Amino acid sequence: MTSIFSSTTTPLSGTFLNRSSLFTTHLKSNTKIVNLSNKRGFRGAIVAMAVQKSDEEWRAVLSPEQFRILRQKGTEYPGTGQYNKFYEEGVYTCAGCDTPLYKSTTKFNSGCGWPAFYEGLPGAINRHADPDGMRVEITCAACGGHLGHVFKGEGFRTPTDERHCVNSISLKFSPEK
Ligand SMILES: [Zn+2]
Repeated sequence: MTSIFSSTTTPLSGTFLNRSSLFTTHLKSNTKIVNLSNKRGFRGAIVAMAVQKSDEEWRAVLSPEQFRILRQKGTEYPGTGQYNKFYEEGVYTCAGCDTPLYKSTTKFNSGCGWPAFYEGLPGAINRHADPDGMRVEITCAACGGHLGHVFKGEGFRTPTDERHCVNSISLKFSPEK
């Protein structure tokens, strides 16, 4: 019961739909996620966005480039991001609100020019179809900050066959304690 749902064997169907898991528990252990599922009322807090600021407030705390990407859905130039070829062990948090988004163990080298992850922390990331219907945008569930896009079925040999293509500037890395 405790081992089958460790973060590395999370069932595919639960990787992005399972908002009931407490997404901040990943720092503690791989097995606690399941125990906390459906037992706490975090769902509403995540969906309603815990961090809300006006554009002016965001401009005050973000660099102009961070603002352009996180708040205006911009994209950094490929191959230039700080974390594009970065593989230290730790956790990536949102550069806007510091919510944990990805574990380094889910990062892989896609060769696409941006950091790539095969799954986010449960409940930490929201998805929205782009207006043109071509791509699926991913945002920080806590503050709505634009992260990038998610692509499926590209044939990468990862547990989910998904690629979260994330702007480095939307992320902040913290070494695992
Ligand atoms: Zn955020």
